[in-house]
Amino acid sequence: VAALGLHVPSTAHSGVLGTSSLAARVAVPSRALSPALTSRPQVQRALQALTLTLEKLQEVKGRMLEALEQGLSQQSRAPSTVRMLPTFIRSTPDGTEEGDVLVVELCQSHVRTLWVTLTGDGNQSPQLLYRVFGMPGDVPRGSGEALFDFIAQCVKSFLEEIGSPQHRLPLGFVFPFSCRQTGLDKAELISWSKGFQCSDVEGRDVVQLLQAAISKQELYHVDVVALLNNTVGTMMTCSTREKPCEIALVVGSGTNCCFMAESHLLEMAEVTSGRMCVNSEWGCLGDDGALDDVLTPYDHRVDQESSNPGERRFEKLVGSLHLGEVVRHAMLMLASEQALFARRNTSILATRDVLTTQQVLEIMDNEDGMAKAQGMLEALGLQPSERDCCRVQQLCRAVVSRAAALSAAGLAAVLSHVCHSRELEHLEVSVGVDSGLYRTCARFGEILRSVVGLLAPECTATLVPSTDGSGLGAAMVTAVALRLAAQRHKVERLLAPLRLSRADLERVQALMRQEMERGLDRESNAESSLRMLPTYVCHTPDGTERGEFLALDLGGTNFRVLVVRVGQDNIHMTSDIYVIPTAIMQGTGEALFDHIIECIEDFQMKQELMGQVLPLGFTFSFPCQQLGLDKAVLLNWTKGFSASGCVGQDVVQMLRDAAQRNQRVALKVVAVVNDTVGTMMACGYHDPKCEIGLIVGTGTNTCYMEERAKVGTVEGDEGRMCINMEWGAFGDNGCLDNIFTSFDQLVDEKSINAGRQRFEKLISGMYLGEIVRHILMALVEEQVLFRGKPSHKLQNKDIFQTKFLSTIETPGLALLQVQGILRSLELDASFEDSVLVQEVCQTVSLRAAHLCAAGMAAVVEKMRESRGLEQLTITVGVDGTLYKMHPHFSQNLQQMLRELAPRCDVTFLQSEDGSGKGAALVAAVACRGAEPSSLQ
Ligand code: ADP
Ligand code: MG
Repeated sequence: VAALGLHVPSTAHSGVLGTSSLAARVAVPSRALSPALTSRPQVQRALQALTLTLEKLQEVKGRMLEALEQGLSQQSRAPSTVRMLPTFIRSTPDGTEEGDVLVVELCQSHVRTLWVTLTGDGNQSPQLLYRVFGMPGDVPRGSGEALFDFIAQCVKSFLEEIGSPQHRLPLGFVFPFSCRQTGLDKAELISWSKGFQCSDVEGRDVVQLLQAAISKQELYHVDVVALLNNTVGTMMTCSTREKPCEIALVVGSGTNCCFMAESHLLEMAEVTSGRMCVNSEWGCLGDDGALDDVLTPYDHRVDQESSNPGERRFEKLVGSLHLGEVVRHAMLMLASEQALFARRNTSILATRDVLTTQQVLEIMDNEDGMAKAQGMLEALGLQPSERDCCRVQQLCRAVVSRAAALSAAGLAAVLSHVCHSRELEHLEVSVGVDSGLYRTCARFGEILRSVVGLLAPECTATLVPSTDGSGLGAAMVTAVALRLAAQRHKVERLLAPLRLSRADLERVQALMRQEMERGLDRESNAESSLRMLPTYVCHTPDGTERGEFLALDLGGTNFRVLVVRVGQDNIHMTSDIYVIPTAIMQGTGEALFDHIIECIEDFQMKQELMGQVLPLGFTFSFPCQQLGLDKAVLLNWTKGFSASGCVGQDVVQMLRDAAQRNQRVALKVVAVVNDTVGTMMACGYHDPKCEIGLIVGTGTNTCYMEERAKVGTVEGDEGRMCINMEWGAFGDNGCLDNIFTSFDQLVDEKSINAGRQRFEKLISGMYLGEIVRHILMALVEEQVLFRGKPSHKLQNKDIFQTKFLSTIETPGLALLQVQGILRSLELDASFEDSVLVQEVCQTVSLRAAHLCAAGMAAVVEKMRESRGLEQLTITVGVDGTLYKMHPHFSQNLQQMLRELAPRCDVTFLQSEDGSGKGAALVAAVACRGAEPSSLQ
């Protein structure tokens, strides 16, 4: 019984095979030969040697997988037999490709030229014109120059024949030899094979050689855009709009496989995002001995008689070039043992190629294979008996089945690798197949499919036969290259205004500095976009603060109430978060403050603080004109607040009034501070060098300790005072207009405070997602994203949250997860779309971090100068979820700050629970030395 060629059950071996339940599952009964006919032990042995158990195939798969992975990794100690050559093809066709493309394909004995017109219709009906030019026999072994001249002449006469236009013509070159590629149009020939041996080509760039030869023919408008081998061509032909094909299997005279690999695994290619097609060159598996336990004596003879002994061992087991030869050697050896053609003259079997692969396939046939065998063997003068014919038929089946099973083992390795590297539990994929064996021999296909299913059960591979092998594929590659180049151009044009140069950032820094000076000066304060508000906080904590305080934190995403106990060596806090409904944020001021008092009441009840009147620090993170530590007039709302009747009022007074109305809550408000100040104070408790506070959360802002002498808006010259810059408003007077992009304009126009907080709108959490959303819409409009398909979901304001940037930019994140996020927004993102969205997010968050660095550089440089220092060492206390959660924001900020302010040594200290604790500490510093109860 030939059970799919996997094993030949016989009494002698049934014990071994019986242990394999997997093997049993593939063992479908075929038209069995009666045991009597196969009983000769020599024949049994021959068949058994040619038959691989499922366990052995598992091992071959494992070795292929190992070789693939070793080939991908440049760092691996020993070079892999399987080379895994990068092809620089980073995209499969998506069906939007259009235009005229010229292809020239170098084949075994001819050159084929094609003219392909793609119409952008999903590659349903590409128009094809082609011509085949026979190659003179001496060309493959002549000079390289003669070879390329010949190819260029073919191109020239083809173009003359079809009367091609003179406009620029992109050309794709199918060159089926191992090349070391460094670009789509840069490929050095590693070594010739398949009987080619032209001089002066190995080690040289074959694209350049072809381009030079084409120029010699005065075809100056023909531009070699892409080089690819036939395997890659097959993958590209089998891609459709609905289903990209990401793996190709070639089993022709040779064998090879290529697939779309994760770029970050491809150390050789030095690209880290997205995918790239790698040409495995898997025919060389086993050249290091890895297949020795699979090879039979017949395989050794075939190898020794070949033109490249010891090389391409896997190919010699699988490629159709050698199948006839393996059968011939098996017959020859069995004949010498008298197990076949007994007592006949079999010397004819010593002649190479007397049995072709084609004949092997015909003999295999169930219907008239026996007759074919008889005819063929008779023609060789072997006078076969019926038994001889049967045995030869079995040999043919075994050899072809083995080829199918081995290609399946190889393909299973690739499938498992792809599945694993994409972190999938299940992979569904189309595999393009260019194979004469697959096309003509049903049995080959059956075995291929069933063995792949058994060896890679986690994958579902749909085998797609390629119709016009590599020529059309080359046209696709060329067209894809053109499409990508055109798209790249559009993307670059769109993103260019968001990419700020070092000079741009230096200008921003200088402007920030100028606006700081103007804001501090009593005369020019009104013209500056920076308010530079005095806070009346004149000291950072010194560690002697003690006591129990109440703190409020309003102005962030959450409203919080805290009780803070400042002890000898530690601060203990308990807090509760309360929600401020949008209706209250945007209702009346009275309702807002009544709500706040109710929250305090609730908190005091829960904490059993009713009746105690603790000193209270109030973090109020909106721009205020401060008239004293406990007196702050609201200048304007930001960050989505708009409660009426508050602007121009003292917020401490509003809080006290609300407490009066409530009557159950008594307050002793000691200090009102901005969240930047709170953050600085909280970090200052741990690090005395902390004299700057920075927030990058919903909004952005900074405060720092300024020399009082420089603060023109407050009396007194002694010591320092913390200045709340309100830097979110930087640029509101037009000074940043030249860096705003059209996307920034849109975000601003659609906000509730158009024209205000312009710097903040470039940097903070409330806006980054919106900027990205507007860019994505523009990219859709430009037809470079989501295939230009407009998304209704994307039209919704704030649908693209800033936290998505953090996720999407997470290093090492599988693109599948990016796709997942986009899918959750009902955005049907392809793999390439995901890469592009990632790039957009990176561009937007990098700009934000760099602008923040430019602002901070102005601050630290000013402090350094006004303190008359050569070098300033200082700490910035930072708070804000964007700063804390974004994977690159803080590094990008710090690195650019080092460049922009090289004479300042700046440490960033993240505040834990900053603004609440800070408010308590401001109160504590104010109470320093005094008994808290003696205040007021
Ligand atoms: P606030 O500044 O209001 O006090 P946060 O510092 O917590 O509050 O910042 C909240 C903002 O942070 C949100 O507006 C949101 O845009 C942004 N954000 C939330 N999660 C993330 C995240 N994972 N990565 C980046 N930004 C985030
Ligand atoms: Mg906050």
